[in-house]
Amino acid sequence: MNRKNLLLIILILAVVLALFAVLTVFFDQAVLVRQNTVYRAAIRDKVVAITFDDGPSAAWTPLILDELKQAGVKATFFMLGTQAVKYPDVARRVAAEGHEIGNHSFDHHGIFFYSAQEAAREVKEGEKAIRDVTGVTTKYFRPPKAWINDQEKSVFAGMGYKVILWSLNSKDWVTFDDKYIVAFLVHNARPGDIILFHDSGSVFGVEGGDRHETVKAVAGLIAKLKAKGYRFVTISELIRMDAKNVHH
Ligand SMILES: [Zn+2]
Repeated sequence: MNRKNLLLIILILAVVLALFAVLTVFFDQAVLVRQNTVYRAAIRDKVVAITFDDGPSAAWTPLILDELKQAGVKATFFMLGTQAVKYPDVARRVAAEGHEIGNHSFDHHGIFFYSAQEAAREVKEGEKAIRDVTGVTTKYFRPPKAWINDQEKSVFAGMGYKVILWSLNSKDWVTFDDKYIVAFLVHNARPGDIILFHDSGSVFGVEGGDRHETVKAVAGLIAKLKAKGYRFVTISELIRMDAKNVHH
């Protein structure tokens, strides 16, 4: 291969990477797979559900739990089986403090191209790991990276699971300013929203990230939305409030 071709290939790769980065920051692929999932509630009550993915984390989950406790707010934690096994005490603290626990798969594999059996196994193994540690049997599943296909949705429904996405994405894994995150969320929050945060994880993995902006953003968001008259509910409560309309 001559030098010119090599440079061209590198240039193309760089453009593709840059496009991908821009897409992840400014576009939320979850909107493409919302059909037959729960991603918000069509209600008028001023309530939102705060949710956390990828934990528990030994570093960040306890700080988030402290903020939630101080604010008197219950949230929903979509745990990874692997993380629950790694940090059982933190996982148990989430349950003990009255938060809801959902299933974010066993090992954070993108299941979009999985066979139905493989996808079902990811969910079952996540469920078992979370139950072994916390005693809670999960009934809500949030697919890693919102990669899920129609066949998987019906398989999970057959297993008694509801697939939970979100309507408001904090993008806390790419946004490094809590004031910006809070301003964005407060500006866009509507009654019935499901808000996505992460209590663990970095851009490239489920650990190693710095979530201190998330801790601050959660506290700031709760204070600002409370001032606007909002209450905070778990996913179960949100679904109960909107038993008829929650499927769109
Ligand atoms: Zn995740």
